[in-house]
Amino acid sequence: MLNALTVDVEEYFHPTEVQSGVDIRQWDTLPSRVGDEVSRILDLFESHKTKATFFILGWVAQRHPATIRAIVSAGHEIGCHSYFHRLVYSLSPDEFRRDTRQAVAAIEDACGVTPRAYRAPSYSITNESLWALEILAEEGFTEDSSIYPIAHDRYGIPGAHRHVNVVETRSGPIKEIPIATVKLSNGHVAPIGGGGYLRLLPYRYTAAGIRRVNGDEGQPVCIYFHPWEIDPDAPRLARGVIARTRTYLGLKRMTGKLDRLMDDFLFSSIAEAYPTPLLSSRSVSAAGPTA
Ligand SMILES: [Zn+2]
Repeated sequence: MLNALTVDVEEYFHPTEVQSGVDIRQWDTLPSRVGDEVSRILDLFESHKTKATFFILGWVAQRHPATIRAIVSAGHEIGCHSYFHRLVYSLSPDEFRRDTRQAVAAIEDACGVTPRAYRAPSYSITNESLWALEILAEEGFTEDSSIYPIAHDRYGIPGAHRHVNVVETRSGPIKEIPIATVKLSNGHVAPIGGGGYLRLLPYRYTAAGIRRVNGDEGQPVCIYFHPWEIDPDAPRLARGVIARTRTYLGLKRMTGKLDRLMDDFLFSSIAEAYPTPLLSSRSVSAAGPTA
């Protein structure tokens, strides 16, 4: 079974846990690391002959076009990760539309590709910001991978679909690819999608979760990580114990875990792991903003 591997391309100073301590006006003064990190990721993927989807922050595309072009040249899919990495539910619909257009323009300018898949910063499409899916469809996006069907203090829609589904919005359909989860025997849904969970928990937890979804449920999973997660030497800017644990624990082992994942499972881009057209039996509209 082909699973989706995704990378949210941003600098170490962009995660939500870091932004409270770093002002946006400082961004251009901080040393950049994303170019070297992405090079290492491209080498890692090449050594496993694996393709992936890279969701690009517009701010990064504008400043590092050569890095974005290298991703395209290596044959990977390009998606959009917003321009300023602001939480969608903190924006008005108009602000969200402007940010999205600015990001698409920056990505197009950098590499000539128009992204058609979107991932919100920190999975911030929640019940409060489902209107964003309608705007994305209106702006020409065909895929979104921003919904984490779990309960979390900052993101997630508990009870949302755990597998790919089509959301019917007033502006047309958009394919939603949720982040990977497993259903536990007590009915709870636990995240296995990557990033912090992949870094913080033992490898066997993620591996067992993917096996269960692929085998018992017959469904692919969507896994994600960030370039700064394979870079133990990046400056550590997050403040507070919880934020620092979430952001920095397990960085040294991350590359080894990704290596094992690609040894043990088959991965590719979202476009290849979730090819269109979807079977109509999977098409549902329960999460649509018109509901
Ligand atoms: Zn991000």
